Amino acid sequence: MSFTLAIVGRPNVGKSTLFNRLVGKRLALVDDQPGVTRDLREGAARLADLRFTVIDTAGLEEVTDDSLQGRMRRLTERAVDMADICLFMIDARVGITPSDLVFADILRKRSAHVILAANKAEGAAADAGVIEAYSLGLGEPIRMSAEHGEGLNDLYLHLMPLADQFAERAVEDAPETDVTLDEEEGDMEADVPVPTAKKPLQVAVVGRPNAGKSTLINQILGEDRLLTGPEAGITRDAISLRTDWGGVPMRIFDTAGMRKKAKVQEKLEKLSVGDGLRAVKFAEVVVVLLDAAIPFEQQDLRIADLAEREGRAVVLAVNKWDIEEDRQGKLKELRESFERLLPQLRGAPLITVSAKTGRGLDRLQAAIMRAYEVWNRRVTTAQLNRWLAGMVEAHPPPAPQGKRIKLRYMTQAKTRPPGFVVMCSHPDKVPESYSRYLVNGLRVDFDMPGTPIRLWMRGQN
Ligand code: GDP
Ligand code: GDP
Repeated sequence: MSFTLAIVGRPNVGKSTLFNRLVGKRLALVDDQPGVTRDLREGAARLADLRFTVIDTAGLEEVTDDSLQGRMRRLTERAVDMADICLFMIDARVGITPSDLVFADILRKRSAHVILAANKAEGAAADAGVIEAYSLGLGEPIRMSAEHGEGLNDLYLHLMPLADQFAERAVEDAPETDVTLDEEEGDMEADVPVPTAKKPLQVAVVGRPNAGKSTLINQILGEDRLLTGPEAGITRDAISLRTDWGGVPMRIFDTAGMRKKAKVQEKLEKLSVGDGLRAVKFAEVVVVLLDAAIPFEQQDLRIADLAEREGRAVVLAVNKWDIEEDRQGKLKELRESFERLLPQLRGAPLITVSAKTGRGLDRLQAAIMRAYEVWNRRVTTAQLNRWLAGMVEAHPPPAPQGKRIKLRYMTQAKTRPPGFVVMCSHPDKVPESYSRYLVNGLRVDFDMPGTPIRLWMRGQN
């Protein structure tokens, strides 16, 4: 079980209804009449591929009596303290009530991760309540209808990055990362977890056989006196090496090591792809190492595309630059090929290096750090919505069959890599080209090169 989610909020907002949906059995009693007193209940929840424990605090009376209010508070506090993440639910049809403010206050003080959900949001009657929910200062509300099963995708998008974090903690026992969902006014925040000895930055060096991966890794390790020696890898064959490259704790996945074990040449090509794949899955930053003499071969393109699809930060390194004669011309040619063959990685850094001599390795290290930072980047909702308004004004979405697509608001749902949700009318009618326009705009305006950017169009109903 990866984490515990507590559903909290005043009575009758729909907590049990959501609990039932997540648990999948009618474990909790749903009652239209407020006043049935129940205690905390727990269930094993699943949401897409996530498995977690959910706690329901349903059934407390709406009370004015002091002692009962105290009981409500204590029960909520208990649930909050038991949970890793709290889902705070309000009723979007009713709007924010004084009781909601009491709960918001408890959550703000006691919970590290609060997800706000405006429930009963099916239909336009809830619009005002959803907007009001922003005033709680707990970030972007998820527009939800527990009864109709709506908003679960968005809930998933909010839980996913946190789930990763708790899963990693369980494995690594390293509580250093702190990816929060706080959406505060102010400057763009780079909420980047700092790599530590316990939780080093995970880098994979991938590329075709003979691109120079082993040479590069040896060069990196050779510069580093703090090398702690090879460790057993996560899988039987992949080998990871701990180093402090440029003073930054890193774990480098050596995909070359395995290749060396292959005896047959044909087997070799196959292996390096499968092995690279495994490394990509474990990496945070993927260095695609190209041979300057034969760059952007099919295999290079496949692995770079894979890294993008897996959502990893990507740095392209062109090796054997020492034997290149026409460097200016070559660089121009490389950039053109890159644009044409890997448009999905637009803006990713392209660094020329010589693994043999060590030239360019400092720039490579800097590019890795920067890609990692961008990969973890968080943009505030306020900024995104100002930006979205400008983008729409400059270039409004089309009106297919006379239906105007309205982009209502936008929020960043996750990091690692950055993922954004645009709430709009007719999400299925938004053309791919318009999504690309927004993604490219995000990349440029918020300076996010070298990371995949995810964008989801979501309807409000
Ligand atoms: P709890 O006290 O917070 O656990 O609330 P319940 O889950 O018992 O729900 C209270 C009432 O709201 C019930 O009548 C539910 O059927 C209703 N309800 C729950 N979710 C929704 C929803 O998304 N839309 C609407 N319209 N009603 C809902
Ligand atoms: P791998 O298969 O990707 O691990 O590649 P290797 O590290 O085994 O390198 C393949 C060949 O390229 C070896 O002969 C290396 O000496 C050579 N090589 C690697 N890096 C460089 C470089 O920066 N410059 C030159 N000139 N040769 C290199």
